[in-house]
Amino acid sequence: MRVRFWGTRGSIAKPGPGTARYGGNTSCVELRSDRGTLIVIDCGTGGHALGHALVSAGAAGARGHILISHTHWDHIQGIPFFDPLFVAGNEWDIYGPKGLGQSLRETLAGQMQYAYFPITLDQCRARIRYHELVEGAFEIDDIKVSTRFLNHPALTLGYRLEADGVAVVYACDHEPHARELATGRGEIGGQDLQHAAFLARADLVIHDAQYTAEEYPAKVGWGHSTVEYVVALARKAEAKRVALTHHDPLRDDDALDRVLVSLRAAMPEAAPPLDVFAAAEGLVLEIAPSAAAGAARRAGEFPADRPVEPVLAESSVALGIADTRMAAALSDAVRAEGMRADFFLDQDEALRLIAREPPSRPSLVILEHDPPRIDGMQACRAIRARQNGRADQLPVVVLAARDDQAAGAAAGVTDWLVRPFSSAYARTKIRAWVLRTVCRWTSAAIPEDEERRLASLSALSLLDSAPEDRFDRITRLAAALFDVPIALVTLVDEDRQWFKSCYGAMVKETARDAAFCAHVVYDRAPMIVPDTFLDARFADSPLVVDEPRIRFYAGCPLILDDGACIGSLCVIDTRPRSPQGADLARLRDLADLAMQEIRGTRAAETLRSAERRAV
Ligand SMILES: [Zn+2]
Ligand SMILES: [Zn+2]
Repeated sequence: MRVRFWGTRGSIAKPGPGTARYGGNTSCVELRSDRGTLIVIDCGTGGHALGHALVSAGAAGARGHILISHTHWDHIQGIPFFDPLFVAGNEWDIYGPKGLGQSLRETLAGQMQYAYFPITLDQCRARIRYHELVEGAFEIDDIKVSTRFLNHPALTLGYRLEADGVAVVYACDHEPHARELATGRGEIGGQDLQHAAFLARADLVIHDAQYTAEEYPAKVGWGHSTVEYVVALARKAEAKRVALTHHDPLRDDDALDRVLVSLRAAMPEAAPPLDVFAAAEGLVLEIAPSAAAGAARRAGEFPADRPVEPVLAESSVALGIADTRMAAALSDAVRAEGMRADFFLDQDEALRLIAREPPSRPSLVILEHDPPRIDGMQACRAIRARQNGRADQLPVVVLAARDDQAAGAAAGVTDWLVRPFSSAYARTKIRAWVLRTVCRWTSAAIPEDEERRLASLSALSLLDSAPEDRFDRITRLAAALFDVPIALVTLVDEDRQWFKSCYGAMVKETARDAAFCAHVVYDRAPMIVPDTFLDARFADSPLVVDEPRIRFYAGCPLILDDGACIGSLCVIDTRPRSPQGADLARLRDLADLAMQEIRGTRAAETLRSAERRAV
């Protein structure tokens, strides 16, 4: 993978003799996979030179993708000057988070209104598609893209790109969640730890590092990191190289050199080596896999698709705010995002609210640190205690004049909303917290005949038995017929699905909660999911957002003669598919073959137990 920096400056372009070495243009990074897939991350003023270079290169710039972190000026100002968008026949996809109250396209068009620019966005002659993103993972040709909301006054996404056996993370703009971490000292926990996990073992991290720890106290809440925080974070994440970027416009090249010198001098000698450098305009990096590279990717074209934004309208936010002005401001922000606000005044009421069944159950709780009738920390502990394993799904945000990370971590606080803040800031944060929670994933219900079903299943003595070619033959055939990477014979046990045969799967079992086949078992009917991203039952399933990243699923139930549905024969792909009726008939045939083998097992088992009785 090749990475080239076209813009490294934060906030505003700063050309001139003082910035000639590290560059004066605002954020823009070009990334190309070995197969030639072109991704541009952010299109600040650096996008102008990149666009020009792409058009001069001809065909190489005709097809590309722009990932926008957020729509602050310094990340989009190059779009009206990005030449490939003005060439008829070119095809570009633009991805980014949705703006407040308007679409990504509308936000980008805003900077090209007549008062600001002579050509409108609609006059671009290339074919442009817009994709609004939330957190999730998707694929652009041979590149896997994962997204995560960053901590910034605008809704901002970080991008993790994986291809060619390497991972590159772009995180701009982002402020430490726990403000004391700006010093680079202290234990990384909570949301900052989640952020570190997003960076985990990346071959290159490109990170906002606008300030130093010394400057930070005057910049709290501005939405940017310090160089010290980025280094501590990269160490925690075990990243290999770190490119500091979004350089402050007031820091000239010599000052940036001094920051790097003192940063390197402060690095403990005993610590493992970490390559930290300042991103510079024109710098090209070839990122090659280390010896311990991940598994090879499956060849073939992947359609560019995206995590679909969940419907917020069905969501609600529980507010435990006694201050009437603050309560009104926050409920306005909640309603402006199309959600319902529910109030509670004491802990019992809070617990009643979160005990509701979805969709009435709130997707977010915001409570004051010390309102008259509630102890915020105590209420948070009580909510966590009541959640039974759903602890990580309901964010609890505490409103306070200052954050107390240690107490918050102990009580299970997700994040802090530190006063004062603007209403736009509150909306942005509420949106990010809720989008992260609205979980489009449901476990299958338990069938009515569950006890009898489990008895019939265990009587087969198939669970945890050795692989057998008579079943593997069927999954091999299924994979070949459907041209899919994975085919399984699954048996749905009490709390797991276990694979009697697994063609192309890395594991022997998964939790029943996440199992697609558990739905087939409950419905006792074939189930086809052409695209998991578009299906509210599966879009956020752990088997979709993580390995094996299921996009297509088709399964047929395996039903014993006594009526017990014990599992399914299924085929799985990492690309969306639309199977034909004839395909389903073939899958049924194969399921029948599997049933024949299972009946054989049952006959043999009956015979054996008869023999045991005879002995
Ligand atoms: Zn910025
Ligand atoms: Zn910004």
